[in-house]
Amino acid sequence: MARYRGPACRLCRRESTKLFLKGERCYTDKCAAERRQYAPGQHGQRRAKRTDYGDQLREKQKLKRTYGVLEKQFKNYFERAAQQKGITGENLLVFLERRLDNIVYRLGFAVSRAEARQLVRNGHLMVNRKKVTIASYLVKSGDTVQLREKSQKIEKIKEAMEVASRRGISRWLELDKDSFSGTVVSLPNREDITMPIREQIIVELYSR
Ligand code: SF4
Repeated sequence: MARYRGPACRLCRRESTKLFLKGERCYTDKCAAERRQYAPGQHGQRRAKRTDYGDQLREKQKLKRTYGVLEKQFKNYFERAAQQKGITGENLLVFLERRLDNIVYRLGFAVSRAEARQLVRNGHLMVNRKKVTIASYLVKSGDTVQLREKSQKIEKIKEAMEVASRRGISRWLELDKDSFSGTVVSLPNREDITMPIREQIIVELYSR
């Protein structure tokens, strides 16, 4: 399945919410989701009747697009989440948060998950001192994620870290700016995931 390569802002407008896909721009008045608060396309301003199924589908798309995950990968996460103990919806969110590209973004080494994915793929990151180039790699509690020494000089990364330090780091992660490394102190729980998402209705969608 092909990855979406169109304009990122179009996805936010389609989901009628800010998915924060473009870094700094998302926090300025240039944000397209704020400037044009209707769906993209010729019929975007038409009022469509929403059904339960439609709501569930949109919520799933919103979550999938936030993390930049493909349909098949997303379904895999859901199936693994359903097999685990606990609440399926919450397990699903934790799986997505554990992705290495998300951790790189949350630690502030990149301004968006898309940029974080590129950094991982291009070999700039190590997990527990070993190079990892798989963006979907799942970190565990206690893992250390560090920028490789030569990557620590990249200006774009330093700028991203500056921006992130103004916004703060998730409490389940610990950042050591001097060594360009972060530790997964513990896996997140539901309260740590603050984005407005109704994961329960995604579970209902897959239970149809
Ligand atoms: Fe979404 Fe960011 Fe574009 Fe706003 S600027 S529409 S939040 S990607």
